Amino acid sequence: KEELNMIQGALELRTKTVEDVMTPVSNCFMIHSDAVLDFNTMSEIMKSGYTRIPVYEDERSNIVNVLFAVDLTFVDPNDCIPLKTITQFYNHPVHFVFHNTKLDSMLEEFKKGKSHLAIVQKLNNEGEGDPFYKVLGLITLMDVIEKIIKSEILDE
Ligand code: ADP
Repeated sequence: KEELNMIQGALELRTKTVEDVMTPVSNCFMIHSDAVLDFNTMSEIMKSGYTRIPVYEDERSNIVNVLFAVDLTFVDPNDCIPLKTITQFYNHPVHFVFHNTKLDSMLEEFKKGKSHLAIVQKLNNEGEGDPFYKVLGLITLMDVIEKIIKSEILDE
């Protein structure tokens, strides 16, 4: 039964999109680029338990950087250094994908190993004004793997 589920899950990678399995932006733990790495901020980051944290400027839909929790290893909260000092030093690239990217292509991209987290975005050209990119959420390699492992076969 479990193997069948996994085969089913693997087959679904060709049809399901990143939007189907991402973590929606409202549930994302992110940090403002102007944050100061004081005791409060650092303990919030540690408490969140996430390995990678998107960094936004002005609004949550404007992601400019990614902070890795390990980047904070040598940061002393007593020094209250600006987050920007750290993000500019490590400068991890932000990987963006379109919301309709199929999970098999996403898996291929993750396998290339650049980054195992991607920001899911959509081109919004509804309404008046210029089209703009809207952030819908984030996806990691884990979300794709979970899709394979947890997939359920529905009885006919
Ligand atoms: P981590 O290594 O941080 O535990 P994983 O890659 O194992 O992250 O992903 C586990 C789950 O957590 C996935 O569903 C992923 O979408 C979600 N996730 C990862 N980073 C964040 C974040 N900063 N905020 C909210 N959810 C996240």
